[in-house]
Amino acid sequence: KQSSESKCIQTSCPYCGVGCGVDITIQQGEAVKLSGTPEHPANFGRLCVKGTNLLATNHHQGRLLHPVVHGEQTSWEKAIETVAARFKQIIKQHGPDAVAFYGSGQLLTEDYYVANKLMKGYIGSANIDTNSRLCMSSAVSGYKRAFGEDLVPCSYQDLENTDLILLTGSNAAWTHPVLFQRMEKAKAVNPKLQIIAIDPRRTASAELADFHLPIKPGTDAALFNGLLSFLADNNGLDQAYIDSYTNNFSACLEQAKQWTITQTASYCDISKDLLTRLYQAFLTSKRVINFFSQGINQSSSGADKCNAIINCHLASGKIGKAGSGPFSITGQPNAMGGREVGGLSNLLAAHMELDNPKHRELVQGFWQSPTLASSPGYKATDLFDKINEGKVKAVWIMATNPAVSLPDRTKVEQALSRCDFVVVSDCVASNDTLAFADIKLPATTWSEKNGTVTNSERRISRQRSLLTAPGEALDDWKIISRVAKAMGFDLGFNYRGPGDIFDEHARLTAFNNNGERALDLSGLTGLTSAEYDRLKPVQWPVNAKYPQGCPQVLADGNFFTDNARANFIEIIPAPPKLACCTDHPFSLTSGRLRDQWHTMTRTGKANILAEHTKAPEITLNPEDARSLDVAEGDMIRVSNKTGVIYLQAKLSDSVAAKQVFVPIHWNREFASSAVANQLFAAIVDPISGQPEFKQTPVQLEKA
Ligand code: SF4
Repeated sequence: KQSSESKCIQTSCPYCGVGCGVDITIQQGEAVKLSGTPEHPANFGRLCVKGTNLLATNHHQGRLLHPVVHGEQTSWEKAIETVAARFKQIIKQHGPDAVAFYGSGQLLTEDYYVANKLMKGYIGSANIDTNSRLCMSSAVSGYKRAFGEDLVPCSYQDLENTDLILLTGSNAAWTHPVLFQRMEKAKAVNPKLQIIAIDPRRTASAELADFHLPIKPGTDAALFNGLLSFLADNNGLDQAYIDSYTNNFSACLEQAKQWTITQTASYCDISKDLLTRLYQAFLTSKRVINFFSQGINQSSSGADKCNAIINCHLASGKIGKAGSGPFSITGQPNAMGGREVGGLSNLLAAHMELDNPKHRELVQGFWQSPTLASSPGYKATDLFDKINEGKVKAVWIMATNPAVSLPDRTKVEQALSRCDFVVVSDCVASNDTLAFADIKLPATTWSEKNGTVTNSERRISRQRSLLTAPGEALDDWKIISRVAKAMGFDLGFNYRGPGDIFDEHARLTAFNNNGERALDLSGLTGLTSAEYDRLKPVQWPVNAKYPQGCPQVLADGNFFTDNARANFIEIIPAPPKLACCTDHPFSLTSGRLRDQWHTMTRTGKANILAEHTKAPEITLNPEDARSLDVAEGDMIRVSNKTGVIYLQAKLSDSVAAKQVFVPIHWNREFASSAVANQLFAAIVDPISGQPEFKQTPVQLEKA
C-alpha cells in the first residue's frame, strides 16, 4: 500500500509468541502510526499494550552504533577479523567444542539458520543454544517423545471452536494478551465455552475462568495422571483411537492408576470437589484445548508435565481434531523459527536429528560443508558451566542478556568474567551482559530487520524493515556470514539477502527426505525476491498436500515415530528439586508483568509501559505480611542459598499463604538489587535442559 506522501508496511510484533501482524505508516522516513493488521490470522487487527506502544521504544537513544574491540571503537573490518582470528585460534588449539554461540528467540529465522550452519556445519560443534531453552524446550521434548516430532498440533482458531479451555500454568491475560482477547470474545459469543485456570496463583487470567484450581506449585503431573486415571474409571477413553494410533497405553495407565481423586487432591492440595469438577469438565467436553505455558515448561520435570498433559489427549482421542489438543504457547516471537532451523544444541536443521547418521549425511550433503557436528552440544545452563570450568573458551552471545535471564546470576557473571573471549552482538550499547564483552558488535533491531518469524501456531510471518539502521548497525545474518567468510568459509555464506537464506532453509526441508519429516516447506522453495517480500502468513507444512499450509497437522493420526503411532509416556510425578524448609519457608515463583518484556532492554525505553508497575514488587499474602509485620510498600529482603534481592511488598491474596511472586524483568540499570535470577539455582530438567524458574524456597525479612 503506497502513496506519494506515506506508505504502509506490514510486519510483525517482536514480543510474544502470539506473533501479531502490525501495520506501520511511514512518512518522510519516520514511522508515524501503528495498528494491528486486520487480515493477519494471529490477531485480526488486535494488539496488546506492548504492541500498541512499539513505536515509543523505537528511538536511537542507547543504541550501539559502532563495533567496539576491547573498549575502543573500531571498523567493521577490524572487528570481524578479530572475532574470526580468535575463534580460529581457539578451535585450532582446543578443538571446535571450545567455542560456542548463545542466541535468542528474538533472532529471525534467517539469522538462526546462518548461525546454526556456521557452528554445526563449518566449525563442527553443536555448541549453539539459545534463550529459547528457558522458554519452551520442555514442550519440544514432550512433543518429540509423544509424536516423534516437535509438532504443535493446534491452531489459534481452535480456541474459538472448542468446548473447554484449560489454562494450565499460563497467565495469558498478561503474557499472550491477544490470544486471551480471542478467548474472551469466544466466551462472549458462546457462554457455554468453559474456561478453567490451573495455577498456584489467581492471576488476571483467572478472572475469565469458570473456576480456578490453585494447585500446589509443581504438582501438575500428578493432576494430569489423576485425570487419566479418572477417564479410565469413567468411560472416558477413546479405545478405538488408542488401539489404532498409539503405543504403550497399558503401562502408562498402570502408572497413572494410583492417582485416585483422594490421592491427587491431597498431593495437589486442593479440594476433591474442585478436582472432580475439572475432571468432569474434561470428560464431558467433546472438544478440549489444554493451553499451557511456562508454568508447565519451567520445571525440573517440565517434559514429564507436558507428556502427562499429552497422555490425556491421546487417551480421550481429543487431539488432531478441530478444537482439541495439547497447545504449548511459546514465550518469544521466534522460538519456533529457531526450532525449525535446528537452533538448539540437540537439534540439527529442518527438524532432523543430530544423532541420526542418515540425517547428518543429508544435511552435510545439502550444505556441502567441510564437517558436521556428530553429537549434541551444551544446553544453556551447561554451556555457562563449561565456560566456568574453562572447557568453553570463547562465546558469542547474540541478541540476549543471559546475565539477567539465566538462573544463578553470580555463576553466569563468574563464567563471563573468566571466559577468554566474549563477543556480544546487540542493538543496545549497554546491558548487564555487554559489561563482560571483549567485542561489541552493533546489530539491527526490530524496525530495521528483514526476515521471517514463526509463531506458536506454526505460522510463518514476514518481519519487514521499516527504517534505516542507525550508525553502522548490521543485520545478524550479515555479521555471522562476514565472520564465517573471515574464518575461511567462503562458499557457504554468500547470501544476497534474507530471501536467499529462507529459500535455502525451505529447500533443505524438502531435500532428498522422501517426505520423512514433518517440516516440509517445499511449497515455499524457489520464491523470487518479490514473492518472498509479499509472503503472506502461512502455517507449515506448506507442500503439495497442503499448498496453503495446514492448521491440523495430526488430523490423519499419522505420527512421526517408527511405527507412525503416538507414544504414551509413563509419568512418575516429581516435586520441585528444592523444597521449602524452616530456614526458607516461602515458595517463590517468577513470571512476567503485563507491560514489560524480558530484561526490559526494549520496553524499559517507553515510559508509558512503566505506568502499570512502577517499581520492583514482591507479591505476598496478607496473612504472611501480618506475621512478618510488613505493610504495603515496605522493602523486603528475599534470600536463599543462591542470592539475595530487595523488593517492595505488594499485598494480595492472589498468592496463597507461604507463596510469593516476583517479576523476571528488572535488570541492573533499572533496579540493581531486584534482579530475580539471583534467587534461582541452575537446576534444570534432565530431559529438556529447561531451568526450574517456577519454584524456589526463600526467606523473607522486613528490610
Ligand atoms: Fe505483540 Fe504478543 Fe501483544 Fe501480539 S499479544 S501485540 S505479539 S506482545
